[in-house]
Amino acid sequence: MVSHRVLVTIILLNVYIGVQSVFYLFGGVLLTILFAMAFLNGPRLLDWASSPPHLQFNKYVLTGYRPISSVQDCIRSLFYLHNELGNIYTHGIPLLCFLVLLPLNIPWSQISVTWLGVVHFLACLSPQLGSVLYHLFMNHEGGEHVYHTLLKLDVCGICMINTLGALPIVYTTLLCYPFIQTVALLVYILLSTHAIYCAVTARSSVRRLRSFAWQALFRFSFFLLRWVGLGGGSPTSLRHFLMMDALAVLGGVINIMRIPERFRPGLFDYWCNSHQIMHVLVVGSILYLHWGVLDDLLWISSYNCPSD
Ligand SMILES: [Zn+2]
Repeated sequence: MVSHRVLVTIILLNVYIGVQSVFYLFGGVLLTILFAMAFLNGPRLLDWASSPPHLQFNKYVLTGYRPISSVQDCIRSLFYLHNELGNIYTHGIPLLCFLVLLPLNIPWSQISVTWLGVVHFLACLSPQLGSVLYHLFMNHEGGEHVYHTLLKLDVCGICMINTLGALPIVYTTLLCYPFIQTVALLVYILLSTHAIYCAVTARSSVRRLRSFAWQALFRFSFFLLRWVGLGGGSPTSLRHFLMMDALAVLGGVINIMRIPERFRPGLFDYWCNSHQIMHVLVVGSILYLHWGVLDDLLWISSYNCPSD
């Protein structure tokens, strides 16, 4: 008969080896990409004026535009330097990390509302997935039509994290008021559906931002409920959620204002331009959402609502 302690040791050893393998896998993928980059020569890149009109959305990025390409050539562009490479990898690498590490990081056995964990996991993946597809295939030979479809997909990803990401927050804040909780969740889903429609059909980034604004306002009213002590939730999560929104807003403002490339057009064509900075801030924002939701999910399992 194997003793309990030996069994636990074997399980822990297996988990340890599993985590190590994940890191080795990432290392392998990264090395392969770097190796391929060293040997693959890309096509001749275009400057702003000679790139297709639908790709001329940032007049401060002067060079490094990929020519119109087939699906295979778009995928090949993962392995040579151009002005969308940073955008692809700043969301591509976190997408792979989140896909593997988030399920391992959610304490499934300790949380009592499993569907909130699943919804949260999907919410965290959606913006990066839409973004990677948009940036990778935006120069597809299908032209403007394909570009606008991909842009809608990218916007949809942001809408999904705004919608799905907020459900655990609404659920936890109103934990002790089940009827109001159900109504609030339904209202939020319905209004979010309308916001998604508005954001996807918006013709400018300012209009798009406006359709996200009311969702932020709705979330903020829940933060306010928590702050005045009327809403439920872990005492530590509100701080995380405020950081989440602060980083997202900062990213949005930097992106719209085209900082820093507007001050030195051409200098930030490949690295550190406004869109890449926004991507990094969005990843930070998702991490804060994750930490806040984790605190809340654990809080739900340990909290008993007052009986009166
Ligand atoms: Zn992007």
